[in-house]
Amino acid sequence: MLTLILLPIAGFGQAEVSAKKVVKLMGCAFEVAASANNDTVAWEAIRAGITEIERIEKLISSWDPRSQTSEVNRMAGTAAVHVDQELYDLIYRAKKVSALTGGAFDISFASMDRIWVFDQAEHAMPDSERVAEAKSKINYQEIILNPKDTSVYLSKGMKIGFGAIGKGYAANRAKQIMNNIPGVSGGVVNASGDLLCWGQSPSPEGWKIHIANPHQKEKPIAWIQAKDLAVVTSGDYEKFFTSEGKRYAHIIDPRTGYPAHGITSVTIICPDAELADALATSVFVLGKDEGIALIDKLKNVACIVITDDGKIHQSQDLSLNFY
Ligand code: ADP
Ligand code: MG
Repeated sequence: MLTLILLPIAGFGQAEVSAKKVVKLMGCAFEVAASANNDTVAWEAIRAGITEIERIEKLISSWDPRSQTSEVNRMAGTAAVHVDQELYDLIYRAKKVSALTGGAFDISFASMDRIWVFDQAEHAMPDSERVAEAKSKINYQEIILNPKDTSVYLSKGMKIGFGAIGKGYAANRAKQIMNNIPGVSGGVVNASGDLLCWGQSPSPEGWKIHIANPHQKEKPIAWIQAKDLAVVTSGDYEKFFTSEGKRYAHIIDPRTGYPAHGITSVTIICPDAELADALATSVFVLGKDEGIALIDKLKNVACIVITDDGKIHQSQDLSLNFY
């Protein structure tokens, strides 16, 4: 979702240079930017960040039949699949978010892929029996992880997908890789609205991040000043379909098997892009009240929720600058 616009607050600093590139990865536009002591280093960092995101995409994609994730899905009900420690750990953390959110976040939502098609078109609702059948396969507790051989087992009919956490994870990793390059002092990874910025920005004050109103995209509602922060938005306005005039968006409520509704967008602000990504989806499912109550319980996490009626709600400890 292109809701976040990153701008340096003031002019460019003197000693630093900054470069950026936009590439299509993980099915969305990724903007990767670096601040460094010279141009060559900035571009080296950007290339390294992009290579890292490509590597992660190969590992976690459930569209690419050659990925380890696809192998896990193919072997559902048949056998446990040995995976890289990295993928194992990502699934482990995803299950922890599921436990934290009472199952609102669940990577095994993907059994629903067969039912819901979010192609921006108008079509009929799927048959409720099929929805119920696919829903019965969603259960993060049945994603069986074996630490001894880092294997993953799914029971028959189950499927996992990282659509709600993968971009955040990739942003975290790209940051790490870029930061390890000598001469790099800061950067930004913005995966179509899943944004992570860190370190030195082109201006000493940090970055100014605009939060746009999904109902009026060109008109930001607020801004925050950020340094070392992820600002991640989940919205209902890109992947959806309509049926009898009603819009159904791509975030599934695992409790019902139907697309979650009531919320137009959720923005999570916290230092960790992966957590922010997962929580944005979670709050979308939980709804305004339960969602904000959850965020208020978490340390160093804040959120902004825009409901379908256009109202803006926010968690307790967030100082937004409204326009
Ligand atoms: P965006 O892609 O707009 O940033 P999200 O981060 O919320 O939004 O990811 C939405 C994607 O997450 C969906 O397209 C789907 O792949 C996946 N997903 C849908 N419902 C759930 C859910 N309840 N738990 C985990 N992942 C989900
Ligand atoms: Mg998400």
